[in-house]
Amino acid sequence: MKINLNRLLIDLEKYAEYGKNEHGGVTRPSFSKADHRVRQLFIEELEDMGLQVTIDGAANIWGKHKGNGTKKGSIVIGSHLDSVLNGGKYDGPLGVLMAKEIIRTLIEDKVILDHDVEIVSFTAEESNDFNLSTFGSRSFVGRLTVEKLHDARDSKGGLLHDELIKVGGGLDKFPMMVNMQNDKKAFIELHIEQGQRLESANISMAVIYSVVGTFRSFVKVIGEPNHSGTTMMQNRKDALTAAAEMVLEVERYCKDKGDVVGTVGKLNVSPNAANIIPGQIDFIFEVRAETEEKIENTVEAIQEAWQEIAKRRQVKIQQEVFLDQKPVALDQDIITILENAATEMDEPCLTLPSMAVHDAAHMASITKSAMIFVKSIDGKSHCPEEYSHPNDIEKAGNLILQGIVHIDRALSVTEYSVPPGN
Ligand SMILES: [Zn+2]
Repeated sequence: MKINLNRLLIDLEKYAEYGKNEHGGVTRPSFSKADHRVRQLFIEELEDMGLQVTIDGAANIWGKHKGNGTKKGSIVIGSHLDSVLNGGKYDGPLGVLMAKEIIRTLIEDKVILDHDVEIVSFTAEESNDFNLSTFGSRSFVGRLTVEKLHDARDSKGGLLHDELIKVGGGLDKFPMMVNMQNDKKAFIELHIEQGQRLESANISMAVIYSVVGTFRSFVKVIGEPNHSGTTMMQNRKDALTAAAEMVLEVERYCKDKGDVVGTVGKLNVSPNAANIIPGQIDFIFEVRAETEEKIENTVEAIQEAWQEIAKRRQVKIQQEVFLDQKPVALDQDIITILENAATEMDEPCLTLPSMAVHDAAHMASITKSAMIFVKSIDGKSHCPEEYSHPNDIEKAGNLILQGIVHIDRALSVTEYSVPPGN
């Protein structure tokens, strides 16, 4: 049994037309017009395949291919259909359309598994105007609650609830997701790597064993605004030169630490005028690493170095942590099954941690979850140049197809009724 690569590639091209922009990229954030249209297409296609379609409170789209009923619940495959602004055609859709291709293959080959096999497309996985990335999966597993969301608004003041209603969801439908959780016995997400580890190793795919933790804080550097002509260099308390040193310290510290990465990706200068010494800098500091300990050590060491800079440059630093996402271990049983399936196929496969957060990291809190990465050419993602080679995509698809057949056999009737509690 093999997936039909051509059919999948045609699907990828077709879906990339929704939200296609003048740069050849895809702009399809959740709740946009392009998103509305792609959802409609997707639902229609799932229904045409004979799947049982459900839209939950977070407007995640589920499509169920019924099994023979021997074992309760479903093996879920999926990812997301939304994109960043001017993104590519693979980040997200590859995982969703592969799930569709796999189910289509099962139907065509008349394979009925003991479990149901289900496809999911999660809502608003990417950063969005509501500041709620991985919104769909976080809501599904109960990490975003109605209380937290009832006043969530976009930058124009529009309510999240209103946007959800337009696409078949709504906060009033959130309780149904709790009931749906128990039904999910395993989750596999296929995603492009978005890095260059597979390309460097010249290997098509990887089984992912963990998703890195992320620490983010708002940092305020307070100096003294003053006249840029009359204030002599020795009398300045320049917040920007202090911040510049702090940013460089992040790079210096993380440089040789392997899988620890640190970034300052957003920075505001105030008052931001040519003739005024910068009085205040606000930036966001981020650290990602595979273990909690590595994150803590990195944040601590950098903060210590910052204190020295602040003292020397006579500025004040204030910091407020707004994200402290712990690393997530994915499910060892599913990882082993996928690794064995790769060996059976005689396909080399790396085992890697994911340096980006994905829906699978949240699904891991309610069910046995794993991910497969497929090689990204030049490590590019979130841009129109994003590309994965069809041969690599095909191998990854067949690996998941074989994988779910093995998972279906391996999961017993009563096993895993209690979530692993990641
Ligand atoms: Zn993605």
